[in-house]
Amino acid sequence: MGSERMLKEMICITCPIGCHLTIRQDGDDIEVTGNTCPRGKQYAIAELTNPTRMLTTTVVIKNALYHQLPVISSAPIPLDKIEETMKLLKEVAVTAPIYEKDIIMKDIFGLGIDIIASRSMKKVD
Ligand code: SF4
Repeated sequence: MGSERMLKEMICITCPIGCHLTIRQDGDDIEVTGNTCPRGKQYAIAELTNPTRMLTTTVVIKNALYHQLPVISSAPIPLDKIEETMKLLKEVAVTAPIYEKDIIMKDIFGLGIDIIASRSMKKVD
């Protein structure tokens, strides 16, 4: 059985330059062209093997001026876990006061990644 060759194109989103990458994969051998710096190759390999994204969303907050608290993941989350994480966060309700960087949900799916508050919100009466 021969190895499968694959040709793929993607845009590196690591920095605002947005290089157009061409990836040739032949088994375990991955060749990346079009990248201006080494981070482009790292990005392409990560996208092929374990694509991840930062998650930004909101959770319900009680006793605060607003009803939604913006939250962010402490690190990029594997794409196949984003939807499940969003579902979990829909069930979450926190109570003010909350401080920026407070952990809202710890170690999601045992990935060592927390969901943290992106801003503080005071308690209101
Ligand atoms: S390859 Fe390097 S220069 Fe190009 S977008 Fe990615 S990080 Fe930026």
